[in-house]
Amino acid sequence: MVKVVKFGGSSLSSAEQFEKVGEIIRAEDSRRYVVPSAPGKRDSSDTKVTDLLLKIYKKMEAGRPYIKTLEQIRMRYAEIIRGLGLKLSLVKEFERIRKDLESGAGEMYVVSRGEYLNGRIMAAYLGYDFIDAANVVRFNDDETLDAEETYRLLREQLKAHERAVIPGFYGSKKNGRVVTFSRGGSDITGSLVARAIRADLYENWTDVSGFMVADPRIVPDPKVIHTITYTELRELAYMGASVMHEDAIFPVSQVGIPINIRNTNEPEAEGTMIVERTSRIPSYTITGIAGMRGFVALSLEKDKMNTAVGFCRKALSAFEEYNISVEHMPSGIDTMSVIVQQKDFAEKEQQVIARIEELCEPDHIDLESNLALVAVVGRGMKSTRGTAGRLFSALAHAHINVKMIDQGSSELNIIIGVASEDFEEAIRAIYEVFVETQV
Ligand code: ASP
Repeated sequence: MVKVVKFGGSSLSSAEQFEKVGEIIRAEDSRRYVVPSAPGKRDSSDTKVTDLLLKIYKKMEAGRPYIKTLEQIRMRYAEIIRGLGLKLSLVKEFERIRKDLESGAGEMYVVSRGEYLNGRIMAAYLGYDFIDAANVVRFNDDETLDAEETYRLLREQLKAHERAVIPGFYGSKKNGRVVTFSRGGSDITGSLVARAIRADLYENWTDVSGFMVADPRIVPDPKVIHTITYTELRELAYMGASVMHEDAIFPVSQVGIPINIRNTNEPEAEGTMIVERTSRIPSYTITGIAGMRGFVALSLEKDKMNTAVGFCRKALSAFEEYNISVEHMPSGIDTMSVIVQQKDFAEKEQQVIARIEELCEPDHIDLESNLALVAVVGRGMKSTRGTAGRLFSALAHAHINVKMIDQGSSELNIIIGVASEDFEEAIRAIYEVFVETQV
């Protein structure tokens, strides 16, 4: 059994947090490859090391002094090293970073140092080997990931290391120039390592006890999802739910390696298992609820639309021409609505409407903004009768007007559109009927 374990910034924000992580790793012999983030916030007023590094880069670019901020970072690491009682010195590392800054180091190199230094400390603390991610995570010249070469390099190098720490978030191009993933990208590194060595499990340790049925800012103390499939997760993530970087899913899902989301501050909790498929009966009919505000519905009306061949295609091509992604398209006999994100549409609305007029000659065009979409997702919905009935009666009881309904053909999700001001109440009403009352 081999596990790849990734720890997020809040799990590594102080010596005390490092100690918790050390205990978790030592508790199981299989936790052989460790991927750390940079130190995160110790409390809500704190600043992440990655953000401090970004600040340094910005100051350097503007020709302003940055030494104070660099000193602040040095102190944070020194405190961790001291707190852990390590005999590690990062003097040379900081000297090097300062020199690189002076000779015009790139932004990605600068921000990647948070993970690099944390990896050094982690390796010393655990007594594991240190592998610089720049040598094993490969990017193409256009800064996209070269996944195949990364797997090859990781496989080749990790063979020689029984136990190792590989810092998250960055890698390099063939010419050695450091490239980072987008923010939160250490999740991707963990996933790549797990995939390369075909680990049995990818554990992603964070500060929540798993993926929750609903957003805790909307539903107080929501239940944790015990098992979720990759497809369900993608549906929920697309609608705004997040626990990990979305690009972290593909490397492991493609080969069926499960991900286990765990809480460093509550290691006894089982967390959430994300799997390719499962025979495990979900605890509730639904697996999760997610949603977003900020959609617009553009409705078109035309007599005999149902017989006008090509009408939908022409209407959609107007959106395509202006590079606006269409989210949903509910339709009637003589009407169709196109739902798009307000932020994409706002600036181009007049041009799109003019184009639709020109291409489709509709009798009437209507716009409705401030629409919120709520996705109710669950593999259990397919086999349960009355799901939609319960859903809509819950919304009716909460006096919420449903403006749009869209059920995916896989019966894995039902998406409803409501007015923005009803958004949170709708989520609470759905949670209540499917989870609290659990009929
Ligand atoms: N440290 C980086 C960030 O703050 C990457 C990560 O934590 O995954 O985004």
